[in-house]
Amino acid sequence: MDFNDTPEEAAFRKEAAEWLDANAERLPPGKRRQGGLDRDDLLPAAKAWQAKKADSGWACITWPKEYGGRGAPSIHSVIFGQEEAKYDVPPYMFGIGQGMLGPTIMAHGTDEQKERYIEPLLRADEVWCQLFSEPAAGSDLAGLRTTAVKDGDDWIVNGQKIWTTGAHYSDFGMIVTRTDPTAKKHAGITYFIVDMKSPGIEVKPIIQINGAKDFNEVFFTDVRIPDSLRVGAVNDGWRGAITTLMNERASIGSGGGMGVGISDLLRIARETEWRGRPAIEESAVRDRIADFYWKLKGLEYTGYRAQTSLSRGQTPGPENSIGKMVGAPLRQEMAAFAMELLGVAGAATGADAPLSGAFQASWLGSPGLRLAGGTDEILRNIVAERVLGLPGEIRVDKDQAFQDIPTGSGR
Ligand SMILES: Cc1cc2nc3c(=O)[nH]c(=O)nc-3n(C[C@H](O)[C@H](O)[C@H](O)COP(=O)(O)OP(=O)(O)OC[C@H]3O[C@@H](n4cnc5c(N)ncnc54)[C@H](O)[C@@H]3O)c2cc1C
Repeated sequence: MDFNDTPEEAAFRKEAAEWLDANAERLPPGKRRQGGLDRDDLLPAAKAWQAKKADSGWACITWPKEYGGRGAPSIHSVIFGQEEAKYDVPPYMFGIGQGMLGPTIMAHGTDEQKERYIEPLLRADEVWCQLFSEPAAGSDLAGLRTTAVKDGDDWIVNGQKIWTTGAHYSDFGMIVTRTDPTAKKHAGITYFIVDMKSPGIEVKPIIQINGAKDFNEVFFTDVRIPDSLRVGAVNDGWRGAITTLMNERASIGSGGGMGVGISDLLRIARETEWRGRPAIEESAVRDRIADFYWKLKGLEYTGYRAQTSLSRGQTPGPENSIGKMVGAPLRQEMAAFAMELLGVAGAATGADAPLSGAFQASWLGSPGLRLAGGTDEILRNIVAERVLGLPGEIRVDKDQAFQDIPTGSGR
């Protein structure tokens, strides 16, 4: 493990910092970046910032040069992100399109698809969503039931997707569909690009526990998708889906950042009175904070291991799963403890709450983080099977035709 930048990384960091200094305002100490629950309102600003980065060669820097990136190693993306976090810039809202779907089109799309869609995706002139999960297909994505049936040069799509982040402001989506129910469940799937303005698509927002409207139910009724928007071969969509999911795991591995940290918790413990004196003076409080501290340090050093692999041009291994598996529940526990310390004020949210309600927002947001991109249990399965070498799960439906797999509805 190496904690320092190589000379080449240090030069890159300096170049990034200089560009950011010239194009953005530094965050004053203690101030947080724009964000919060009304992220949709920030979309125009987020798009403008992305276009500015694209114009100067700072967007999607790991993408190959032919697609507008720098062909840079992943560690450069980490370094740019670390530097950008010091500035008051709009939230990044394009991770699904740029981190997962763009690379899938590059790997499996036709030349026409690459020509048409990649550049507007890089600049965020067009925003994309991922239409994978269904009410009965999440962790077991290959159980999906949305159908696509060939009709002349088009496919007719019927079914429902759910938890689709950003569907309400997306221009395009990438959708996996069932095209051959007589094949085994991973085999009869086909992958498409879909124009979200197509007739027959209905997007219904889901309001989350924290009041945000990040994701949606999306209904498809006789939606026509031209065959020219198929990504990969008919019934070979699982291959493309795996490319998307591999990119998702890589981008989400860090656990999405802690949002609030140990210094925020210490501040609350110092400023909150407990039995007539600052809470920090209670040994039970100090014990809990110490417990969070060493776990956070463990995560930080595990993160450095992932960064070191990236710096050496290697792909991070299971530490990516560990980051989210440990980080997301830890974030939830820390937030719950902070709210407990705050007593009655712990129930307050919004700008008037202590620390502008940052711990409350973190607590309400962390259940989603524990599900998205692989639930806690699925990540534990990955660690169990791929790291510890334990026997794999029994998968009884793997070799059956999809249409013969029994369901609760008897279908
Ligand atoms: C914030 C957020 C954003 C999202 N954005 C998108 C998006 O943009 N596009 C999209 O397509 N989807 C999106 N999702 C959906 C996400 O991919 C699914 O929630 C996830 O895959 C889990 O699927 P599920 O919700 O159907 O739960 P299920 O798979 O039904 O799981 C239910 C419970 O069973 C457990 N479980 C399931 N299988 C196993 C097993 N084999 N072993 C042990 N336990 C198991 C799970 O851990 C969980 O506790 C998003 C989800 C969230 C929370």
